[in-house]
Amino acid sequence: MQEKRVIGQIAKKSGKTEDEINALVEAKKKKFSGLLTDSGASFMVAKDLGIEVGMESVKRINIAALKDGMQNVDLLVRVMQIFSPKEFEKNGKRGMLCNMIVADSTGETRLTVWNDDVEKITKQGVKRGSVLLLHNCNAKEFNGRVQTSLAYKGSFDVEPDVMFVDLPEAKSKDVKAGELKEGMNDVNVSARVIRIFKATEFDKNGKKGKVINFLIGDKTGTARATAWNDLVEEAQKLVEGEAISIEGAYTKSGLKDVELHLGWQARIEKIEGKELPTVEEMRKKSALVKKIVNLEKGDSDVLLEGKIVLVNKGALFYNVCPECGGKVQKLDEGIVCDKCGEVKEPDIRPVISVRVDDGTGQIDVVAYGKEAGKIIGLDNEDLKKQKTERGSDSMIEELQEMCGTKITVVGRVKQNTYSNQTEFVAGIVELKN
Ligand SMILES: [Zn+2]
Repeated sequence: MQEKRVIGQIAKKSGKTEDEINALVEAKKKKFSGLLTDSGASFMVAKDLGIEVGMESVKRINIAALKDGMQNVDLLVRVMQIFSPKEFEKNGKRGMLCNMIVADSTGETRLTVWNDDVEKITKQGVKRGSVLLLHNCNAKEFNGRVQTSLAYKGSFDVEPDVMFVDLPEAKSKDVKAGELKEGMNDVNVSARVIRIFKATEFDKNGKKGKVINFLIGDKTGTARATAWNDLVEEAQKLVEGEAISIEGAYTKSGLKDVELHLGWQARIEKIEGKELPTVEEMRKKSALVKKIVNLEKGDSDVLLEGKIVLVNKGALFYNVCPECGGKVQKLDEGIVCDKCGEVKEPDIRPVISVRVDDGTGQIDVVAYGKEAGKIIGLDNEDLKKQKTERGSDSMIEELQEMCGTKITVVGRVKQNTYSNQTEFVAGIVELKN
């Protein structure tokens, strides 16, 4: 991008087209047997054409020249890595900070920007690979390394119009979820969130920490991701089915497979991810195909295929909180949601239980909500209407027509606490006639 702008400037000043300038630059590189960088070759072409080229380099220094205590220096850098903005509290005052690893051809340093500048960084879309011209930086030594921060009166330009500077490329390793190997560092994975688990707190050497696990996947497979501390809150906001890009993560071998770890250097970004398979496709693909006779207690992510042989009697719907969609309880004081409190008029969601036979045995498959709706064939509104008009018994009788229908379900084995029978809770339902 930097080079393109340089070529454009030379073209403008010389009255030639960009293609002509590009050809001259290539010829120059060829003449020097590939020893010239693009910048170097462009610089020579500009000189040949008699064009003034320069860099305003008043206070600018190289990263290698940074020393403890330096103030108000300018740097031209490439963002090699950018971390999630963090909130902090100092002397009772709240603020934001954002850390980056930035580099020029002489080295790299940690850069911290504060408060309003954090907002600007986000708004202007600064990311790995962005070029920044930083005005008024301060340098300070920390743990034997010089770190930089943008001063209170500092400023920065994103993708500045500066010519002829060789900045290192921001290398990032894009890895597929199914191709993670132990010991990888600084990797990026674009994937879809399949499932998010509950965050837990832990205590390690007297220090409190938080950790959360979530499952991601792409067309090559699925992987377990683990986010620590500052990133936990961000991971909790993720929604199942959402496409994300995880940057700056590392891998470690976990209980079963290699896991992706999101440490302090990692960052989560939302992406469009049109090319990623749907959650259903991935869960179906990664599920273990089993016969009913082989089902065991605790089995989860199992795929069963069989025929519906009976639609079990039951209510066909259950009450949920109209606010959050969560389950509600009937207490003496009334209907209560754990999260929202008293519920005046609960909403309803479909639930259905069907007996499935796969030739090796039979099991009751229970489906809730959208998945139950696929079997019942009614949306929430129709369900409500029919329920009051004729009641579930008559509806279930009619549903017996489904017997013989082929069904594929992905789900888990569960012990029903009331009937003490083993049933199969379906997360995904697919019917075939
Ligand atoms: Zn609620």
